[in-house]
Amino acid sequence: MNRPRTGRAKRVKKPEQPNAADVFGLADDLGPEKVIHVHRPAIGLRAILVIDNVAAGPAIGGTRMAPDVGLDECFRLARAMTFKNAVAGLRHGGAKSVIIADPAMPPNQKEEIIRAFAQAIGEVTDYIAGPDMGTNETAMAWIADEIGRSVGLPREIGGIPLDEIGVTGFGLTIAAEVAEEFSNVKLDGARIVVQGFGAVGKHAARFLCEKGCILVGASDSRGAIADPQGIEVADLIRIKEEGGQVADYPRGKKLDRDAVIDIPCDIWIPAARPDVINVGDVDRLDCKMLLQGANIPVTPEAEVKLFERGVLSIPDFVANAGGVICGAVEYAGGTQASALAIIEEKIRDNVHAVLAESRASGKRPRIAAQNLAEDRIKRAMSLRRWR
Ligand code: NAD
Repeated sequence: MNRPRTGRAKRVKKPEQPNAADVFGLADDLGPEKVIHVHRPAIGLRAILVIDNVAAGPAIGGTRMAPDVGLDECFRLARAMTFKNAVAGLRHGGAKSVIIADPAMPPNQKEEIIRAFAQAIGEVTDYIAGPDMGTNETAMAWIADEIGRSVGLPREIGGIPLDEIGVTGFGLTIAAEVAEEFSNVKLDGARIVVQGFGAVGKHAARFLCEKGCILVGASDSRGAIADPQGIEVADLIRIKEEGGQVADYPRGKKLDRDAVIDIPCDIWIPAARPDVINVGDVDRLDCKMLLQGANIPVTPEAEVKLFERGVLSIPDFVANAGGVICGAVEYAGGTQASALAIIEEKIRDNVHAVLAESRASGKRPRIAAQNLAEDRIKRAMSLRRWR
C-alpha cells in the first residue's frame, strides 16, 4: 500500500456509491429520493416503489399491478406524479409503485400479494398508495387495513370512490372545455375516440357526451369498434360492467385493438397504457386535439411531432389530475362535493395557465406545464431543511 512519506495521511475521497436510479441513468435534481425493491419469492411478490420527490409532503401515487411493468416505467410514472401533484398545488409529493404480476390472478392470491406488499412498505411513511391499473378500492382497503395509509378507499370506510364517480373523466372534460378557447374544436358536436374504455375512458366519454360530443370509436385490451353515427355510451358502459368487451357492442364496425388509432375524430383520448403513441403513429392520428387521460401515453418524440402538425396535446399531469386531487381531499377528510369543486377549480385554472403560456411563448404545452411544475417543486424544496 502506498503511504504519504511525511505529514498526516491525506484523506482519500471515496467515490460516491451510485444508487439504483443512477445506475439506470434516471436521477436528476428533483429525484428520485428512494427506490425500493420488494422480493418475496415464496408468495410470488415482486414490486418496486419509487418515491420521487417529497418536498411538498408525503407522496401520493398509484399502485399498479401488471405483468410487464418495470423500474423505468415506475420511475417515469413517479415523476409524472411529482409534476401532477405540484401543478395541482397539493400538499403531497410524487411516487409510484408497481407490483409485477397478473392482476387477473385468483382473488385470494391477489389479496395475499397486496397485503404482503403493504407490510413490506409499512415503515415507508412518506408514501401513500392509491388505486391504479390492476388495483382498485378493495385493494386500497387491504393496504389501509395493514398499514393505515392509502387513498381511494371504499365509501364504507370513509373513502370517496373516485373510479365509481369518474373524477378523472370529469377533470378531463373540464380540460377539454378550457381547450376550446385554444383550438378549433367545439365540444358540441365534436367526435371523440377513447382508447381504453375503463375507469378513466368510460367516464370521460360519459361526461364529454353530456357536453354534446359524439363517441365514434372505442377500444379495450381485446379489440375496438368504430361507428361514425355515434356509439351509445350508456350501452357500452353496461356491456363492460356486465363483464363483456368493447367488441360485444352490437352496432358499428369491429376492428383490431390498435386500429383505434386510425379512427378519424376531433378529440382522441388515450386512457390505457403508457407510450401508446410513438413517433411512427403520429401520421396515423386524424384528430385536432389529444386529451391525455392515461399517464405518459405519448412518447416525447411523438409529442414534438404532434405539436409540429398543429395537434393540441394536453399533457397528462395537467389534464388527468382529477383522481389524485380526489385522493388528497379524501386523505384530508373532505367530502365528494368538495372534491368535485376543487377538481373543477384546479384543472380549469391550470389548463388555462398552461395553454395561455404555450400560446404566448410558442412552447409546447408540455414544456409550459413542466416549467410551471418545476418552479413550484423547486420553491417547495427551498423551504425544506434537506434540499
Ligand atoms: P382501468 O384498468 O380501469 O382501464 C384500462 C382500460 O384500458 C381497460 O378497459 C383495458 O381493457 C384497456 N386497455 C389495456 N391495455 C390496452 C391497450 N393496449 N389498448 C386498448 N385498451 C387497453 O384503468 P384506469 O383507471 O381507467 O386507468 C387508465 C389509465 O389512466 C392508466 O394509465 C392510469 O394510470 C391513468 N390514470 C388513471 C386515473 C384514475 O383515476 N383511475 C387517474 C389518472 C391517470
